[in-house]
Amino acid sequence: MEDRVERIKKQLHTAGYKLTPQREATVRVLLEHEEDHLSAEDVYLLVKEKSPEIGLATVYRTLELLTELKIVDKINFGDGVSRYDLRKEGAAHFHHHLVCIECGSVAEIEEDLLEEVEAIVERDWKFKIKDHRLTFHGICYRCQQKHMEEQNEK
Ligand SMILES: [Zn+2]
Ligand SMILES: [Zn+2]
Ligand SMILES: [Zn+2]
Repeated sequence: MEDRVERIKKQLHTAGYKLTPQREATVRVLLEHEEDHLSAEDVYLLVKEKSPEIGLATVYRTLELLTELKIVDKINFGDGVSRYDLRKEGAAHFHHHLVCIECGSVAEIEEDLLEEVEAIVERDWKFKIKDHRLTFHGICYRCQQKHMEEQNEK
């Protein structure tokens, strides 16, 4: 955790920004909730628990800055809410998501499954890929199991 805060601090410095206490509070919330996909409001409520003096506008600006610096990625799962997702360290491209349409759970695939597709796009469309978003919408394993159990009870 401390290492990652330190590395994010360096990334900010390189880009000419300081890791102010407000920014650090936001970064720490993102690191503590790395598995989650928090909206700006979610982040704000969590920041407020520890640093009640920080306002929503400040948190929002910090999230935008972190997005600009590619420390976080912004993603929308189709519900109209922008969510902020820490980029995996060293990953060239954004990770993939599996969104369950029944329970709303979100799982992450860190491995880039698109490398072959990228090669085709770059070759056939002469398009230089910088990043991508891949979200699968479907039914998670747990919900499938639940359906099986319901079937068996009938
Ligand atoms: Zn994610
Ligand atoms: Zn990729
Ligand atoms: Zn589910």
